[in-house]
Amino acid sequence: RSQHNPAVTWTQYTKALEQQTRETVDLTTKLRHALEAGQLELYYQPQVDLASGRIISAEALLRWNHPQAGFIPPGRFIPLAEQSQLIGPIGDWVLHQACRDLRAWRDAGLPVTPVSINVSLIQFELGSVPDKVRQALTDYNIAPEELTLEITESIFEQPGQALKQDLEALSAMGVRLSLDDFGTGYSSLGHLNDYSFDEIKIDKSFVCQLNKGRYPQAIVKSVIVIAAAIDADVVAEGLELESQITAVQALGCTKGQGYHYSRPVPEAVWRQLLADQKSWTA
Ligand code: C2E
Ligand code: MG
Ligand code: MG
Ligand code: MG
Repeated sequence: RSQHNPAVTWTQYTKALEQQTRETVDLTTKLRHALEAGQLELYYQPQVDLASGRIISAEALLRWNHPQAGFIPPGRFIPLAEQSQLIGPIGDWVLHQACRDLRAWRDAGLPVTPVSINVSLIQFELGSVPDKVRQALTDYNIAPEELTLEITESIFEQPGQALKQDLEALSAMGVRLSLDDFGTGYSSLGHLNDYSFDEIKIDKSFVCQLNKGRYPQAIVKSVIVIAAAIDADVVAEGLELESQITAVQALGCTKGQGYHYSRPVPEAVWRQLLADQKSWTA
């Protein structure tokens, strides 16, 4: 926007751009070391059955704690990881760590739930996602239906034939597929018919607008109708308020996730949540 501000000269603009590029390069260099330096960690956030308040699954969310730079949010470093293809090794680590954690919870006798991980389009482009998933399931002795892969809608912007084959292979394997951030990207409803999704996650931007009009309500209602037609579960994201929970339930949604129940928590805290099988409704 700055180039439209007459007070900002071209030189200043160029400098700002250079500064931005330097920061990006610098952060990418740091990210390259993050894995081996053990700076990456998986947090878990519960997915909840809205009627009973019980935990039904866990979404693994990546955290990066840099000793000097501090906490860097995924919204900042995931795009860098994608641009630099570091998402390849990082994604492999996420897959293995989530399976390793799930195995550890089971071995500890905890009431275990399935786990969801987020997977980028770039990971599919780098190749072998189904093989890697099959290997991880074998290595940690996990049933395929205990793992869900969350894929954002943006994959539909350039859905190559290879991606389609990979998603079909994963489905055939019994791994669950979830369509994340539904409603935010290039949504062609036709694609829902081409791929076999087991779950649709309604983006939090709709949930937080539910009290602001009929359009967001209509979107949520349509998603629920479509999901029923393709035999998929619906999960409402970003539930922060009691009123939002009541609203999505009134529209027919039975599952949700959000700060009202719990923020994403470190693995040790997650174990405690599982052990307590915490129920958020009376
Ligand atoms: P996402 O997969 O849609 O994850 C949900 C995001 O919403 C998370 O942000 C979560 O902390 C946040 N959230 C959950 N409940 C609430 C709520 O009630 N209110 C609000 N305002 N936010 C809520 P987070 O952890 O910052 O992650 C952002 C995105 O980064 C994720 O969005 C996902 O697209 C990406 N990401 C995170 N971990 C990974 C990963 O391991 N691999 C890949 N490829 N992407 C990841
Ligand atoms: Mg997700
Ligand atoms: Mg999401
Ligand atoms: Mg998101």
